[in-house]
Amino acid sequence: MNKLQSMFRMKCPRCRQGDLFIKPFNFSKPLAMESHCQNCNLNYEPEPGYYFGAMFISYIWTGWLCLFIVGVTIIFLGWTITQSIALLIGMFVVTYFWILRVSRSMYIHFDIPFDKKNK
Ligand SMILES: [Zn+2]
Repeated sequence: MNKLQSMFRMKCPRCRQGDLFIKPFNFSKPLAMESHCQNCNLNYEPEPGYYFGAMFISYIWTGWLCLFIVGVTIIFLGWTITQSIALLIGMFVVTYFWILRVSRSMYIHFDIPFDKKNK
């Protein structure tokens, strides 16, 4: 598994085996993470507020995604602004928690390098 696959599958950045988030998904705790990796024992929250930076990752990539989707639907499909905003809202209702989780996963992957010996 490469780094990109590990990010999007939300695996431990160091061993790429353990899960970052508690399974199965629970709507009352959508961002509940494991405290440590089940495989290599990496601490997933090394300091309080560690995932604050993930908010900026989420903001950046949803911002560009919104511009891209609105641009494509208006310029190439000839939709109105109302139609494309409705599509965006519908899309983000469905993908909201997934985006937050992937942003956290990206953030920890940028910070902690892969280590072969923990595999
Ligand atoms: Zn691990």
